[in-house]
Amino acid sequence: MLLKAREESNELLICRSLNKRMNLTEKERRHYLNLEKGYEGEIQFDKLSENLHEERYIINDLLLEVNNSYFQIDTLIISQGAIHLLDIKNFKGDYYLELDKLYAVTTGREYKNPVDQLKRSAALFRQLLQNLKQNYLVETSVIFVNPEFTLYQAPMDQPFIFPTQVNRFLRDLDKTPSRLNDGHRKLAQKLISLHQTVHPFMKLPKYDYDFLQKGIYCRCCHSLMIYRKNYHFECEKCGEHEEIESAILRNVEEFKLLFPDRKVTTQSIYEWCKVGLNKKTINRILRKHYTTFGKTSDTFYE
Ligand SMILES: [Zn+2]
Repeated sequence: MLLKAREESNELLICRSLNKRMNLTEKERRHYLNLEKGYEGEIQFDKLSENLHEERYIINDLLLEVNNSYFQIDTLIISQGAIHLLDIKNFKGDYYLELDKLYAVTTGREYKNPVDQLKRSAALFRQLLQNLKQNYLVETSVIFVNPEFTLYQAPMDQPFIFPTQVNRFLRDLDKTPSRLNDGHRKLAQKLISLHQTVHPFMKLPKYDYDFLQKGIYCRCCHSLMIYRKNYHFECEKCGEHEEIESAILRNVEEFKLLFPDRKVTTQSIYEWCKVGLNKKTINRILRKHYTTFGKTSDTFYE
């Protein structure tokens, strides 16, 4: 049973937005694309694990804190006798391991060994279970989901699940009978309640309102949208149509995400959307979907 669905992280959403609205440096862009790739891989794994039959709780994207240390778990599965911590990796291409370090064959670039990260997470998670006076076997795996991934010189004793092994890993897991009780349910609820929503280590490019491209981007192909009469926006590139209200709301949410300290007002959204709509339309949409604070000229919406 899925208890916590996966969502795009704020870090990914902000980077995605900035990638459209400003020029990222090569390093920032690489970081952004890695986030996209990682998320894609996680979704891919979610689809594969949808078919588990026995009673289990699946909790995605947990960010936990123990003794001031934060750690993230891509997928946590609670079964009757064990808890699995899974780290999902969507690496593509040829890599090799040397002295516990991970390198890409073509570029020679060094990557963090996911096992180190997972070991740390597992240690902190065991600490957390101890604090909660819970006793479970904790098992960890790094799951490589991309079928075009190869890792040379990987020792057999590492907790790697390679693309050719993912289905078998899930089948084996599914073969282990599991019956959950109230204790499992309470633990799952406790873990979800401990989930931290504000990520302390977001790696974001520096950005400034004045230097961002204003406008509304197509929800399909991410090009700038053009306003057409008859209550629609149209994308000239892919032909996507979107109702005014939906497009404006999407842009308001993007504005709030990028600038949590700025007030949502008719004027600020008018400038942010920059699409030739009149302010009355924007005002009507804000009133309909948000709570109004203040009166007349200093009205804002939350
Ligand atoms: Zn489009």
